[in-house]
Amino acid sequence: MSKITERIINRYVKIRKLLEYEGISVYSSKINCPFHNDLHPSAYIYEDETGDTIYCFSEAKVYYPYDLAVLYHIDVDALYVRIVDEKGLELPEVKPRRDKYLENIPSLAGHEIHAWFRGIKKLVELMDARRGIQG
Ligand SMILES: [Zn+2]
Repeated sequence: MSKITERIINRYVKIRKLLEYEGISVYSSKINCPFHNDLHPSAYIYEDETGDTIYCFSEAKVYYPYDLAVLYHIDVDALYVRIVDEKGLELPEVKPRRDKYLENIPSLAGHEIHAWFRGIKKLVELMDARRGIQG
């Protein structure tokens, strides 16, 4: 799992939305901690422009939207792509797919490439010469 997916989800996905998605009604910021068998509400939702968090007082632990998404088996990669799309964010640069043919000569220096082309030219000349003899 890439770090960027986690960061984007933590930044933009609202804890309340995730709880609602799971069918949990949220009436206040105090909730039953989704991360342990919590019989009495011991967790608190902190809503923030830069990203929501849940703090569980019982566990003394901070949880993020990404943790909740994983807990609810949400496809985090699909969620990430949706956020990027909705927010008009630029996707991280994808490594360009190299041509299969070029992959075989990745480390040739300029003079080597020239020699390589000279070799091909010579081969073509030889083939032409042979064709000349045959024809
Ligand atoms: Zn907890």
